[in-house]
Amino acid sequence: MLIGCPKEIKAQEYRVGLTPNAAREAVAHGHEVLIEAGAGVGAGFPDEDYRAIGAGVVDGPEEIFASADLVVKVKEPQAKERAMLREGQVLFTYLHLAPDPAQTRELMASGVTAIAYETVTDSEGGLPLLAPMSEVAGRLAAQMGAWALQKANGGRGTLMGGVPGVGPANVVVIGGGVVGTNAARIASGMGAHVTVLDRSLSRMRYLDDVFGGQFGTRYSSAGALAELLGDADLVVGAVLIPGAEAPKLVRRDDLAVMKPGAVLLDVAIDQGGCFETSRPTTHDDPIYEVDGIIHYCVANMPGAVARTATIALGNATMPYMLALADKGWQAACEDDPHLLEGLNVHGGHLTYYAVGRAQGIDV
Ligand code: NAD
Repeated sequence: MLIGCPKEIKAQEYRVGLTPNAAREAVAHGHEVLIEAGAGVGAGFPDEDYRAIGAGVVDGPEEIFASADLVVKVKEPQAKERAMLREGQVLFTYLHLAPDPAQTRELMASGVTAIAYETVTDSEGGLPLLAPMSEVAGRLAAQMGAWALQKANGGRGTLMGGVPGVGPANVVVIGGGVVGTNAARIASGMGAHVTVLDRSLSRMRYLDDVFGGQFGTRYSSAGALAELLGDADLVVGAVLIPGAEAPKLVRRDDLAVMKPGAVLLDVAIDQGGCFETSRPTTHDDPIYEVDGIIHYCVANMPGAVARTATIALGNATMPYMLALADKGWQAACEDDPHLLEGLNVHGGHLTYYAVGRAQGIDV
């Protein structure tokens, strides 16, 4: 099979769909790989790395979209890319179709078979191709929170770990899922005093079993949050209610009880944000201030660490990419019902129920 990987064209996207290691595996499985020149550079993979493992490097995306049986990407295809997709081709990438009727319509019209990373499931009920990006964003949240707390960035001037004789920063993490657990791990590793709030008792039992000595847990309620906010240096928003907009757990009025220069870092901004005062920001201009409180709300946090994020994503997607290439999409999906969950569009039809419900399309 011919596997193609174009350079990402979405603004500020430096990741690449195929790492040289993934391309090497595909070649070893007997497939041909075509990559667009410069596609891996943002993640630290020059064209020579791909040539060295036997992949073809071509100028521009046209040849890839025209000839590849399987197109592997990171972000949803942009309008220019959608115009190049064709019937019989398989597209494997993040799609996030529910809020994007134009993309849904054009993918259906193209006749492509589109398999979305974000809806592939695993046997534990998790989302194995979304989890690596939540791990990256969670770990980065502690790092960026520490940065935002620095005086020059408008923060309180608090060091996460304190020093002998001076206490550490108080970090409150709302939501103890993948993002929250990773944020809490790194923040406590930096020496901060960390409390994680969640609504799931089973999740808190797990966190207590595994990280009991490292950070504390509290049941998430308005009262518990009100108690913690006044002492918090950094609050990380990491809640998710699948398929729904994030609940607003910190209201503008609540900012008045917080210490000036404290930081609200809203990782859940891609689902609308869990602080009333959150609005999406970019890596170029990541923070702003409301009522003396610093806000960091970058919607594509993993882009800041494109190399780590690319390798983490590649590790997770590689087995599925190989199954699609080795068996063809139909046999691969028949063999693996979790991969079948990733099928969003086929033969001009939408095949994913939640997207159909969101857009009023029969599935
Ligand atoms: P997850 O499902 O693993 O965890 C979410 C947790 O929130 C769950 O444990 C759930 O019980 C908890 N929760 C739900 N309602 C709550 C409430 N009222 N109070 C406290 N906890 C509550 O999800 P995740 O993978 O950790 O993702 C979290 C958010 O981060 C999502 O919105 C995701 O889209 C977002 N995210 C953003 C970026 C970015 O770059 N900004 C990157 C990755 C993920």
